[in-house]
Amino acid sequence: MHRSGYVNIVGKPNAGKSTLMNALVGERMSIINRKPQTTRHRIIGILSGEDFQIVFSDTPGLIENPQYKMQLSMNQAVTSTFEDADLILFVVDATEKYREDEPLIQLLSKQDCPIFLLINKIDKLDDETLLNLINWWNQQISSREIIPLSALNHTNIDKLQQLIREILPEGPAYYPKDQLTDRSERFFVSEIIREKILDQFKQEIPYSVEVIIDSFKESVTIHNKPIIRIAASIFVNRKSQKSILIGKSGQAIKKLGTEARKDIEKWLESPVFLELFVKVSENWRDDDNSLKRFGY
Ligand code: GDP
Ligand code: MG
Repeated sequence: MHRSGYVNIVGKPNAGKSTLMNALVGERMSIINRKPQTTRHRIIGILSGEDFQIVFSDTPGLIENPQYKMQLSMNQAVTSTFEDADLILFVVDATEKYREDEPLIQLLSKQDCPIFLLINKIDKLDDETLLNLINWWNQQISSREIIPLSALNHTNIDKLQQLIREILPEGPAYYPKDQLTDRSERFFVSEIIREKILDQFKQEIPYSVEVIIDSFKESVTIHNKPIIRIAASIFVNRKSQKSILIGKSGQAIKKLGTEARKDIEKWLESPVFLELFVKVSENWRDDDNSLKRFGY
């Protein structure tokens, strides 16, 4: 019998959703998405075996008081994950205090879909605190399973995978068994560039940029070695942000390009030539046309 299904990972920002998906799906998935809020879009990760296929989707965290259209659209992405799921993994941070009237808890209580409650980051707790937490969560939400784990240290990940496989319905493989995700290589390249911007720039810059891949070509060097040539545009809100991104005599953008290229090469498993351009697109976060162009 072959089992398959959609498993959607939800939880507050920083709970460890992306780390969990990386732990479940594997190494290559983890090159992207190490920082909170890197994931603005839904990303799927596919785990396949002889007799099963699990399609995980990682969602951006629910933003409680959305201020930009972009943030509203991120919240819609969270809500939409409830609609097509065979199972919901609700990840909570064991080191964080949750309120009983947490919006996400209320949203989840209305779902028919089975829920596994995952108490993450147990590497930071003693046994007694964990027991109290399990009791508290037991009263907040009715879930099929409560599983304490550490996504970071891979504690209980195998057990979780086993429980997921047991609960999934009989069904075919939805994707080829060797496929890791539904996103294009271009998408991952832009996510890697965005991650490097998060690493390198402080404050408002990371949250006001969008990265578009202008071209992506498999090519050869003058010595006939294979190389992938990529050109990307980084859109910012204001001219002043453009100057910061470029830096004194282009130092900042050069460093960004080098760091991004190294990770893109790891991801694509190929040498890469990367060109970056910085462009100003004023207030794109509140502009319908821009949002559409950037895929929100
Ligand atoms: P997301 O916003 O829910 O996707 O959360 P991330 O997966 O980005 O994780 C947020 C932070 O929590 C990162 O610094 C992770 O390294 C950390 N983290 C995730 N899982 C664990 C865990 O099991 N133990 C510890 N100690 N930290 C974790
Ligand atoms: Mg994440």
